[in-house]
Amino acid sequence: MEPAIDELLAECELSSANGRHLDGVGQAEAVLARPGATKRQQAHARELLALHRLRLGDYEASVEQGLLALEYLDGSGDLIRQSKVNCTLVLAYSDTGLYEQALRHVLVALETARASGSAVAEFWALSRSSMVHEGMGEADRGLELGRQALALSRTIDDPEASFVGLNNLGDTCLERAQEQRAQGLDAGLLLKQALLLVREAVSVAHAQGHSFYESIARTNLVSILIELGEHAEAREQAGRARRLAKAHGFRSLEENNDAQLAEVARAEGRLDDATEMMNAQLLVAALEDDPALHILLHRSLYEMHKESGRFEQALVHHEKLHALILKRTTDTAGIQSQMLVNTLGIEQARHEAERSQLDAERLRIRAAELDLQANTDPLTRLPNRRALDRELPPLMGLSRDRRQPLCVAMIDMDHFKRVNDEHGHATGDQVLNAMATLLRAVTRERDMAVRVGGEEFLLVFADTTLEQAQLACGRLLASVRDYHWGALAPHLACTASVGVAELLPGETVAGWLARADAALYEAKGAGRDRLATAAAA
Ligand code: GH3
Ligand code: MG
Ligand code: MG
Repeated sequence: MEPAIDELLAECELSSANGRHLDGVGQAEAVLARPGATKRQQAHARELLALHRLRLGDYEASVEQGLLALEYLDGSGDLIRQSKVNCTLVLAYSDTGLYEQALRHVLVALETARASGSAVAEFWALSRSSMVHEGMGEADRGLELGRQALALSRTIDDPEASFVGLNNLGDTCLERAQEQRAQGLDAGLLLKQALLLVREAVSVAHAQGHSFYESIARTNLVSILIELGEHAEAREQAGRARRLAKAHGFRSLEENNDAQLAEVARAEGRLDDATEMMNAQLLVAALEDDPALHILLHRSLYEMHKESGRFEQALVHHEKLHALILKRTTDTAGIQSQMLVNTLGIEQARHEAERSQLDAERLRIRAAELDLQANTDPLTRLPNRRALDRELPPLMGLSRDRRQPLCVAMIDMDHFKRVNDEHGHATGDQVLNAMATLLRAVTRERDMAVRVGGEEFLLVFADTTLEQAQLACGRLLASVRDYHWGALAPHLACTASVGVAELLPGETVAGWLARADAALYEAKGAGRDRLATAAAA
C-alpha cells in the first residue's frame, strides 16, 4: 500500500535534516504526483523540493519550486513557513550571485519571521540577511547582522541555530579580516574574534554529535589558524579535521583539508613540499566535483612557482586558472539569466492570472450595468416593457406552481395630453415621476411596478386575490387624486384610470393583459378616475 501523503512529507522533512537530498527529491515529487494531494500539501512538497534542489546545486529548480510554494503560502497566513521558503530562495539567489533578488526575499523573510513571533524563524532570516549583505560587499552590515543572529541564537534552545550562529559569524569575521589584510590593514582583533567563535562552534557540534557540522567548523578553524600564523596548531587541526571527514565520507571537506595542509607547508616556507602536495591533489581530485578547489590549487601553484622564479610552470597554472575562472563566470551568467527568465515567467503568469480575473470581474459588472440599463426606464427608473416581458412569465409559472392568485392592473393617466399642453412637457415629466413614487408605495417586495410606455403603467400583484388587488388600486387612485400636484404647477390636478384582471388558468400573457386593457378602456369610458375589473373572459 502507498504511504499516506502526510507520511511522505514527514519522511521528506527527515531527509532534509539528514542531508539525504536525492531521497528528499524523490519523496517530494511523489507527493506532487499524487492526484489526491491538497493545495496545502503540494505547497509543502514544493517547499521541501526547493530545499533539496538547492542542496544538490540545482538552483533553477530550487527557485522555481520556491516561488510556486509562495504562490500558495502568501495567502495562507502561515508566516513561519512563508519565512522559511523565502530563506531558501535567498540562498538559491545569493549562491548564484543574484543579490538583488536575494535581498527582496530576505526582507520578506525577516518581516514574516518577526510577524510570526518565532525566534527560530527570525534567527534564520537574520543569518541569511547577514550572508546576502556580505555577498553584496557590505561587509560591516553583514557582520552586524551576523552578531544579531548569534545574540538571538543564544536566547533560544535550538541546536542548529546554536551552531550556525557561531560558525557563520566566525566565517564572516575571517573573510572580513582577509579583506582588511589585503588592504594592508591590521586584522588581528577580527581574527581573534573569529577564532573564539569557531572554537565554540567546534565544541557545540562535537557535543551534539553532529559530525558534518564539526567537520565544517574544524575546516574553518584551520583557515583562521593559517591566517594567524599558528602553523603548528593549524597542521594538527587540519589533520584532525581530515580524519573526521574521511571517517564519515565527507569527500569534499577531506580534499579541502588536504589543500589546507599544503597551505600550511607553504606558509611555513616549505614551497617544494607544498607544490608537491598540491600537484598530487590535482591528480586525484575530480574537477567537476569541486571546481572551486581546482581554482584554489592552481592559484597557489601559480603564486609559488612565480615566487621561486619558475615562470614557465607559473604560466601553465596561470592559464589553467584563467580558463577555470572564465568557465565559472560563463556558467554563472548562464544560470543567472535562466533563473531570471524563470522568475519573470512565474511572476508574469501570476500577474496575468490576477489581471484576467480583474478583466472578467469588470466585464461582469459592465454586463450587469448594461442589462440594468436595458431593462430600466430612464425617466422614472421603473422597470420597462422589456423587463416585464422577461419577468412576467416566471411570475406566472411560480403562482401556478404554488396555486396562488396573481393580478395585474393597467394604469393610464387621465387627459395627460392636457397636462403637457397646459403646463409644459417638463411638468408632464415631473408628474410621471411623482406617479412612479405613488406606484412604488403600493407595491411589496414580490410585486412589480412597470412603466409600459408614455403615461401608461402596469402593476403586478403577487399572491393577491382580485378583491385585494381592487382594494390596493382603489387606494392608489385616491393617492393620485389627493396628491399635492399644485406643488408642481399652479392649479394642476391629475387622476388616473385602472383596469384590473386576475390571471385565469391556462391563460397567455397576451390574453391576460388584453383583458386588463379592455377593463381600463371601460374605466375611461365610464368617466375616468376609477377602476374597472375584467370579466373572466
Ligand atoms: P386619456 O385620458 O384618454 O388617456 O387621455 P390622454 O391625453 O392621457 O391620452 P393620449 O394617449 O391621447 O395622450 C397621452 C399623452 O402622453 C401624449 C404624450 O405627449 C404624452 N406623453 C407620453 N410620454 C410622455 C413623457 O415621457 N413625458 C411627457 N411629458 N408626456 C408624455
Ligand atoms: Mg392617458
Ligand atoms: Mg395613454
